[in-house]
Amino acid sequence: MVMIVEDEIEEVMPMSAQIIHAIDEEERKKRRSALAYLMWHSGYIYTADNTTDSKMRAKIIDDMAMSGVKRMEEMDIPITPARIDALGSIRKQVDLSDRIDIPICFIDVEAIGTQLLLPTRQPSDTTIVTPQEVREAGIVFDSYDDFRDAYNKLAGHIVAAPKSVLFWLQRFEKQFLNIADPRIEQRSKFHKIKPEWRFINPPTHTHRDFEALSKAGDVGRLVKIEGQVVEKGEVKTVLTHIAYRCINKNDFDIECGTINLVEQDVERGDMLKPAECHICSGKKYIRLESQESRSEPIQRLSVQEEQVSSDTRSIMVELRGDLCNTIEAGTSVSVVGMMRLEPMTKNGLICSHYILASSAEEKSQTKGSITLSKNDLEEVKAFEATMDLEEKMDLVVDSWAGHIHGNDEIKKAMVLSVVGAVENKKFGLRPNMHILIIGDPGTAKSKLLDLACDLAPGSRKSDASSASAAGLTGACVQQQDLYTNQKRWAVLPGEIPLTPEGAVCAIDEFNLYKGDYGDVNLAMESGEVIIAKVVKARLPVKCSIIAGANPDGKQSKRKKFNKMIPLAEQIELDHTLLQRFDMIFVILDVADGDKDEKIGFAMLKGLTEDTGSSTASADSTLGLSFIHKLLEVAKSREAKLSKKATEYIVKEHAKKRSEASDDESLRSHRQVASLSRFAIAAAKFDGVKTATLQHVKYAEALMATTLQEQDPAAIEGGLMKGDREVRKTLAESFANLVEKDFMIDSRTFEDIYTELKKTWSDIPSMGIIEGVLKEFSRDSSLTCIHRSRSGIYTYSGTKSPAWQVW
Ligand SMILES: [Zn+2]
Repeated sequence: MVMIVEDEIEEVMPMSAQIIHAIDEEERKKRRSALAYLMWHSGYIYTADNTTDSKMRAKIIDDMAMSGVKRMEEMDIPITPARIDALGSIRKQVDLSDRIDIPICFIDVEAIGTQLLLPTRQPSDTTIVTPQEVREAGIVFDSYDDFRDAYNKLAGHIVAAPKSVLFWLQRFEKQFLNIADPRIEQRSKFHKIKPEWRFINPPTHTHRDFEALSKAGDVGRLVKIEGQVVEKGEVKTVLTHIAYRCINKNDFDIECGTINLVEQDVERGDMLKPAECHICSGKKYIRLESQESRSEPIQRLSVQEEQVSSDTRSIMVELRGDLCNTIEAGTSVSVVGMMRLEPMTKNGLICSHYILASSAEEKSQTKGSITLSKNDLEEVKAFEATMDLEEKMDLVVDSWAGHIHGNDEIKKAMVLSVVGAVENKKFGLRPNMHILIIGDPGTAKSKLLDLACDLAPGSRKSDASSASAAGLTGACVQQQDLYTNQKRWAVLPGEIPLTPEGAVCAIDEFNLYKGDYGDVNLAMESGEVIIAKVVKARLPVKCSIIAGANPDGKQSKRKKFNKMIPLAEQIELDHTLLQRFDMIFVILDVADGDKDEKIGFAMLKGLTEDTGSSTASADSTLGLSFIHKLLEVAKSREAKLSKKATEYIVKEHAKKRSEASDDESLRSHRQVASLSRFAIAAAKFDGVKTATLQHVKYAEALMATTLQEQDPAAIEGGLMKGDREVRKTLAESFANLVEKDFMIDSRTFEDIYTELKKTWSDIPSMGIIEGVLKEFSRDSSLTCIHRSRSGIYTYSGTKSPAWQVW
């Protein structure tokens, strides 16, 4: 217990006095706005008719909210279910709250700011006469216009001074909660009921990036940020009311003993003490330990900007009350809150910024990042109905990516991967489709990755060769503790979990990643990043991965494809990782007269006179924002394969496997899953809920150009076509040398190569042939070819070796 001597006691005005106290004009306006809000949403304005009860009044307010929503829809303002709830009655919001002792009331700032919510003329049977207690304090509304104006201005006040508005809401709430819902008072006999007021949907001008946050201009204002939770602190407790016992002695030398409960200003950081005992007016106290005092949970998060760079910024976000433990580390969040300053040291003048959250939401919970208005939905519906699948896709691809010529199959596959399939947990089928583009430098590979990012808001592009410490998946790093500034371990999510659901995670130079491919493999297949070093965490993966790779392996210094070397070797990617991709496209930089001509025309399009005979529908292109809306609608659609479609996929697969010439080119069963995913995505894109034969065939046509279909062995760990041919030819030619008794003597590789060249006109380079010959010598029990350490080859077999089995 702490003795508090008189001169330490701070002067604090009792709250009642504070209300009556003269407040400057600005403060008066905020108070009126908060009051108007409470009068409307509690249903108080309908208490003029004393035959109504709170339930009926709530119903009228909810109906009025729907009229307001209609007015907003006419102005094409997006409406979400959460928005409709926030615009309704307090009673409705109490009903929607998870905990009866902490009703959560959302206040939709942007919606109020539209001035469309309250009807322009006073509804009948309403009163704008303020309750007696506030009337006595001089707060009245002269007219309904005056009342409506105060209500509409609440939005501006919340943005400029959220703390003041909150203060007034909390001052007045007691008088209105009982009108809004008498059950609250009944319940409050058992629990202390204190609603949480949460500000949501602040207008766009309050949205801040981390660059803007670092400037001090926003202190005290409402801001909205989006970022990644890189650390989550423990839930701690902050005292909201502190109990003091009066130890003032009366005339008989006996201590007064009265308990004085003092409400704390939790923002201030120092403890408030009672001005004087409310019984004896004494000024000597001891602080009582927690039992009589009241507290509230608080939790701190470290939120980092999502655009990870070498100098990544982060900000501390404080959650209070029921918001605690609603956010997971690693998730993307959207936080609305008050910008505040916290002294770095006790009583220090140097401060750091933090955000006291008013509302916080995991973005991955809200599917997609765009909200569609009713008009948007109608526009999309109309578009979907006007064309068939191919026409729609061609128009989308042409509008979005027409300026980059060629590779239409890849572009179409990208569109479908953004749309996504559906999850089937029972069969372990993931909904995301991953695409790998392998291309020579100078091909459109990187441009295609950029294009993919344009398809979905929130997409990220990174270069795997220069990935941050968190890498593609995530890492465990040491960070400063959010409460004590001491070092502690924290999880830092990587590029893949940082990408929100439905967006694209584009990764260039995928084959040059220095991190752990095993983690990447798991993330792609299981939809989870698991971190198990020091701190354990599971980060969800909800995005499509579109990766690019260069042929830049040890085998090839030229950074260009060599047709004779297995592809997996050139890009140095593990087969199991290659198998995670639903489609692998290889873009070769080869001369193609027809294609080159088209590229030339595309480049000169703007410089050529318009003869008017062009069949291109250049003027009927779609805007990117419309494409976003279209894909958003498609994403949220559920679709299934028709029975016929399933039968076709299964039968075709079995047929192709039986037709395969050898084990190495056997088609993988994974193709079935990939084809189903793309067929379902095609149906979703087409605006239907059943993927028919048409959709399967569409997907099949796209897949036909992939490496999986053209050379399955390349993915399955076998050898590629080109490589198999080299082996075969070398074995035959070598057998030929044996036949000619060339191998009776020991030979250097150069000798052998020179000899081979005589009959093998297009023989690959010495490096490649030596590589294969070395491989043969490793299986010397079979091939009878031996290679000494100094590189001398000998042959110990018969004259007619069974080279077919090599
Ligand atoms: Zn006393």
